[in-house]
This record gives sequence, structure tokens and C-alpha cells, in this order.
Amino acid sequence: MIAPIFRTLSPQFFPTAKFGNSFSNPAFLELQGLFDEIASEMEPILTPNKYSVSTNLGRGGIAFVPWIGIHSTNTTFDSSANNGFYLTLLWKYSGSGICLSLQKGTDGIVGGNKAGKIRTAVELIRNKYGTGGFETSIDLEYDKGRPKAYEQAHIFGREYHPDNLSELPDDLVKIENLYDAVVNDNPVVFLDEEGSTGSIIGERTFESTFDRDILDLRTSELLAHSQRKPSKGNRHPSHRVVETNQYERDPAVKADVLQRANGVCELCNYDAPFTKDDGSPFLEVHHIKPLAEKGPDIVENAVALCPNCHREAHHGRNRDSIASTLRSLFSN
Ligand SMILES: [Zn+2]
Ligand SMILES: [Zn+2]
Repeated sequence: MIAPIFRTLSPQFFPTAKFGNSFSNPAFLELQGLFDEIASEMEPILTPNKYSVSTNLGRGGIAFVPWIGIHSTNTTFDSSANNGFYLTLLWKYSGSGICLSLQKGTDGIVGGNKAGKIRTAVELIRNKYGTGGFETSIDLEYDKGRPKAYEQAHIFGREYHPDNLSELPDDLVKIENLYDAVVNDNPVVFLDEEGSTGSIIGERTFESTFDRDILDLRTSELLAHSQRKPSKGNRHPSHRVVETNQYERDPAVKADVLQRANGVCELCNYDAPFTKDDGSPFLEVHHIKPLAEKGPDIVENAVALCPNCHREAHHGRNRDSIASTLRSLFSN
């Protein structure tokens, strides 16, 4: 792969503007042949059967910045140059070097502030998946049209000149792994109308989980996306048996606390919301300093709460001040 790339970096071929639009120019045909050679030598470096590699030297007119694209063939993932994500090797206008780049497709971004939309999308991807130590800008030496859009749509990658070209095969493997992580998470980018802000959501956010904290995190991520796809749900959620930390409880402590409360929530002072089968009021006994945090199971560390107050004591934004209110109630 290195040898044919090296041969393309020559004034014989670049700038390609010299060919006008003559696709049959013998030197241009030779360049096309070298690109085909590079593409076919690139394929064995990549994981088999996951990518399609194609050369792009221009359609209609010869491209000033020709490139070789590496597109994921995963059918649920958009790897198009239109609006998806793909890897590419881009040749600099002067032919002095090449750029390896993870690209955001831009042809499908239309209207309004196109540059702003590209910039926002690129930043969202970098923030979510990192840059793997690669560089976040490239210079294709041509500041108009497609080449300029490629520079803007560069997520991360690296520039090569004859002196560091030998490092390209290793970098290609590295960037393939990073691309693979993006493909697997299958992100969808949402941009506001101006394109100045946006958000990104990956497939993983939709995955079911046993972990309640992760569940809450994913739920709030989804709530932030009004345009998200509808939930699929799960008719037969899988289950697992887990070992939990349990603490011994003294029934007399529980009884004493319920008796002290006498059917009234000790936080909001309203009556218990309903009665149980045996006619007694429903209140829950809560430990002010949790047993899991080495709190004692004694009457002074326990309160009887209605279900609303109990949930708020655990999950409300005021839980710290509720805890100190409860502590002061029984501190002497
Ligand atoms: Zn209450
Ligand atoms: Zn509790």
C-alpha cells in the first residue's frame, strides 16, 4: 500500500487540475491505476467482510482532492458520504501528502448554516467517542467546494508525507477500531435549526439494563431527545438472580416507630394514604442514616413515612435537607 501511495505523490499527477476534464489522459489513467492498486492492498489490512473500499477520482469532472473511501457495510449503519460516517484517505491538492480521516458525510446537509451544522456534528462525535490520540484538523490545501467541506467534516485522523508514510498501516488498524465503535453504537445526531447546538444519541442508550443507575441515566438521556424513536419494549424481559446486601432488622424497633407515628407521616404530618388488609395505616419505616452506611437500627435513627415522603427522602433533590430535618426531629 505504501509503495503505490508514494508513487502518486508526484508533480506528474498533481495538481490534478492539469488534466482539465480529460479522464482519458494517459497520466490520469496511470493515477487511476495506482489508486486501484492502493485500494486492493488496503483491503487485507482491514477486518474481512466489514467494509467496502472504493476510489473516487471525480465524476463529471476530475477531483482536485481525490480520495479512497472505506465504508462500513453494516446495513443498519449509514456510512454514506451523503450523511453518514466513513473513513477516507484524501490526497492533498498539491500531491505533497495524504490525510487519513474519519469523515462526517456532508452532501446531505442542506440549507442554512451548513458549516455550523458540520462543526456541531463533528464536535458531538468527538465528545462522545474521543479522538484516540489522532489530530482534529487537516489541510488539503484547497479552500473551496468539496475539499473545504472535507476539512470541516474531519472528525479525527492524521496527515502523512513521504517521511511518516510508513506509519499509515498501523494507524489504519487503530482508526478502524475507533470507527468500529462508532458503527456499533450507531449514533443519531440531532441539530437545532441553526445548527449551532445539538445532541447525539447512540444505540446503547436504548439497550435494556439490570443496573438501576444506568437505567436512570439512559432514561434522562432519552427524555432530552424529543425526536427519539418510539420504544420497542420487551414482552419477555430477561431476569437474573442476584446476591444483595441485607441487614438484620429488629421488629420491635419497627413496631415502636410505627406506634410513635400513630398513622401519621412523621415528615409531612398527613395521615397514611391507605390502610392495609388488617386495617392498620400504611407507613414505611425509613432509616435516617442508612443501614448500608453503617447507620444503627434503633428507634432514634428511624422514622415512619408516607410513600411519597419516603421516595422523596431517597430520590428528591432535597434529600439532604430532608435528612437533616429528620435528624433534628429525633436528636434528643
Ligand atoms: Zn409524608
Ligand atoms: Zn428509606
